[in-house]
Amino acid sequence: MVRIQSVIPGSPAHRAGIKAGDTLLYVNGERVCDVLDYRFYGTDANSVVTVSRDGEELTFPLHNREYAELGMEFSTYLMDEKKRCTNNCIFCFIDQNPHGMRETIYFKDDDERLSFLQGNYVTLTNLRESDIQRIIRMHISPVNVSVHTMNPDLRVKMMGNRFAGEKLRFLKLLDEGGIRINAQLVLCRGINDGEELSYSLNELCKLENLESLAAVPCGMTAHREGLPELLPFDKESALDVISRIEAKAEECLAAFGSRKVYASDEFYLTAEKELPSDEAYEDYAQLENGVGMLRLHTVEFGYALEDCDLPDIPRHVSIATGMLAKAHMEELAAMAMKRFPSLKVDVHAIVNRFFGETITVSGLVTGGDLIDQLRGKDLGDTLLIPENMLRHEGDLFLDSVSLRDVEESLQIPVSVTARDGEDLLKKLLEKKS
Ligand code: SF4
Repeated sequence: MVRIQSVIPGSPAHRAGIKAGDTLLYVNGERVCDVLDYRFYGTDANSVVTVSRDGEELTFPLHNREYAELGMEFSTYLMDEKKRCTNNCIFCFIDQNPHGMRETIYFKDDDERLSFLQGNYVTLTNLRESDIQRIIRMHISPVNVSVHTMNPDLRVKMMGNRFAGEKLRFLKLLDEGGIRINAQLVLCRGINDGEELSYSLNELCKLENLESLAAVPCGMTAHREGLPELLPFDKESALDVISRIEAKAEECLAAFGSRKVYASDEFYLTAEKELPSDEAYEDYAQLENGVGMLRLHTVEFGYALEDCDLPDIPRHVSIATGMLAKAHMEELAAMAMKRFPSLKVDVHAIVNRFFGETITVSGLVTGGDLIDQLRGKDLGDTLLIPENMLRHEGDLFLDSVSLRDVEESLQIPVSVTARDGEDLLKKLLEKKS
């Protein structure tokens, strides 16, 4: 039972006479409890929708194109409360945020519906068997799962949840139900790497529907007071992770024609090892986990540079990034300056003082750090920042500093670059002096 907040004018629901304020009860005889029910049961060309209005049940026939929207809008995206996470992971990033940030930053969701709709990763620990059966019945695929380890006892320990081990059996049920699985392993040095990692890789690769797997290092901020002690990966331990993953990837390639398992870019940078080739990343299935991002960026940038026929005129642009991508951005800047000798590009790697210097990714650079570290510098005509520095809520950095605050403080226009290398080149060449 979900209250309809508005009805899109001209939509099938509107034409049929459904009104804002009605309560949606059934679509094609199936009870609707959330967005998945709504989407799943309402895909037919001819649907029958039952609503409650002033205590009376009314039924409306709706005529639509198959799989098109019925036109009802609800107060929340999920048409239901977001499910909270019931874990207490030793590596949880949310627990390591400084105090005093926006409240939404501290919300821990773990909702299988967001896995399907937005690609979020879920742990399966707050699901019942009936939820799994529903996923299979609706064929919600793929499901993105934060596995971390296939050792049940270790999973309980790492996730601070006594059910975390036994819920691993849901992976098997999903697999048998034909649901494709993307897996994520957050690796903690000395805990689930080494032989434990090899075991998890072997077990996960037995799943017929494992589509891809990403291993990422746990992030450690300077705000870990009262949390379990964790060690950052160093060159040697990162190399060990890579060698185990690459060995398994080769086995998978021989057995399934796909590498399936990948270490994130961060491991290669920490290990000072060259990133895999464009071909090795296949269809870049794990970009969201930072797997292959830098390689793809370089490839896209290179192609865009080859195709570019803009004139070589004087321009001076600055790029801000995290410490991790410094060398990568410098490489791209050098490529661009070679092709356009009148172009000057300065790369500024920002030290993360907000979360602590161990955090080196650009996505966690804050507006305050940008301002503090770039103030007084000759930044040229424009400052470029990657879009992942900004939150989904709008043009705010994680510390609630806005893009406009940065522009005003640094007295320079800031341009936001999309994730692809082509956009970076476009923005580099946009400003003419
Ligand atoms: S699943 Fe673990 S890492 Fe994710 S939000 Fe919950 S406690 Fe944090």
